[in-house]
Amino acid sequence: MSNHTGDELGFGTLAVHAGVEPEPTTGAIMTPIFQTSTYVQPAVAQPRGGRYDYGRTANPTREALEANIAALEGGTRGVAFASGLAAIEAIVKRLSAGDHVVSEENTYGGTTRMFVHVLSRLGLEFTFVDTRDPDAVAAAIRPETKLVHVETPTNPMMRLADIARLAELAHDAGALLSVDNTFASPYNQRPLELGADFAVHSSTKYINGHSDIIGGLVAVRDEELAEELLFIRKSTGAVPGPMDCWLTLRGVKTLHVRMERHNSNGLAVARYLESHPAVEHVLYPGLESHPQHELARRQMRGFTGMVSVDVGTLERARALSEHLRVFALAESLGGVESLISVPALMTHASVPEDRRLAMGVTPGLVRLSVGIEDEADLLEDLARVLDGNA
Ligand SMILES: *Cc1c(COP(=O)(O)O)cnc(C)c1O
Repeated sequence: MSNHTGDELGFGTLAVHAGVEPEPTTGAIMTPIFQTSTYVQPAVAQPRGGRYDYGRTANPTREALEANIAALEGGTRGVAFASGLAAIEAIVKRLSAGDHVVSEENTYGGTTRMFVHVLSRLGLEFTFVDTRDPDAVAAAIRPETKLVHVETPTNPMMRLADIARLAELAHDAGALLSVDNTFASPYNQRPLELGADFAVHSSTKYINGHSDIIGGLVAVRDEELAEELLFIRKSTGAVPGPMDCWLTLRGVKTLHVRMERHNSNGLAVARYLESHPAVEHVLYPGLESHPQHELARRQMRGFTGMVSVDVGTLERARALSEHLRVFALAESLGGVESLISVPALMTHASVPEDRRLAMGVTPGLVRLSVGIEDEADLLEDLARVLDGNA
């Protein structure tokens, strides 16, 4: 994957500059927080800029963020939402009762919950499959299938889906492909360039990167899809506040710098854990031992700071997560600080046990979100507990 997304500018330059213009009245270099619900119109039904009539419809801080994510994903348009789940919901709400969605079975738990317990009540149908296997996706596609939704890498099993292959499959069947790119970030993986129709993010995670907002972003290449998403957002209301958009814009300026460190710390932690006798196995796409390492190398530039590791038993998983000092015990991921969680008891507690076990979410599984601290301190923290002298 090249470092360049646009015709000319590299990813880092786009992260800092895309979507951001000096403010015209004062020349303020930072996009102001347009904390307003409405706008004064010079004449009846003539909003300035043709669109600034009400904050749910248009907001300049939000628009700057949207232009930025579009550039980083190699798309033409971006749409910002109040959360990652609201972003995914809007993609699915393009569909109508009777339409069918094929979804990865090991998505973020909240995504499956929304599909099963909310959207299927409205007459949409969902089939959950292991999207590592393109044949399983092909077999699940029906005439009514309008969308294939995948997450790669998945949470917490680090399964990968072959984006280019699934885009072909979906398009041949007249469906669209949406890729939850939250775990990879656009620095490491750009689904639109591989043929996907939607790249969707919980910007709560790597894009904002500082664990201080909840947000969602979608990038698309097709103008019509962007207009549909904007219409759905305007009609259903899941807009992010201007302050949160501003914080995300501030965070995204360092995405490329942070991801380099997440990638290198993630790989160092994965290699260290793989070599440790107290560890049964490590799931990390950047390790040669990952069953889809070759695909990872083909469609990702780096392998992020997300590392899952099986320490054998729930007792050991609990001991590790409660005794670390640099890693904090918390849900979520993608912030500058390192976190640890036990998926079976935390993020995936609502998934029925048999389904959890079938996916590999064992009681001894621990998920690390490796931050950007010093590598030596992270390894020492893990060694202190794993070597048994906590
Ligand atoms: C956190 C997360 C979501 C949900 O995003 P929110 O911002 O919490 O609504 C969706 N997908 C993935 C992969 C996530 O990690």
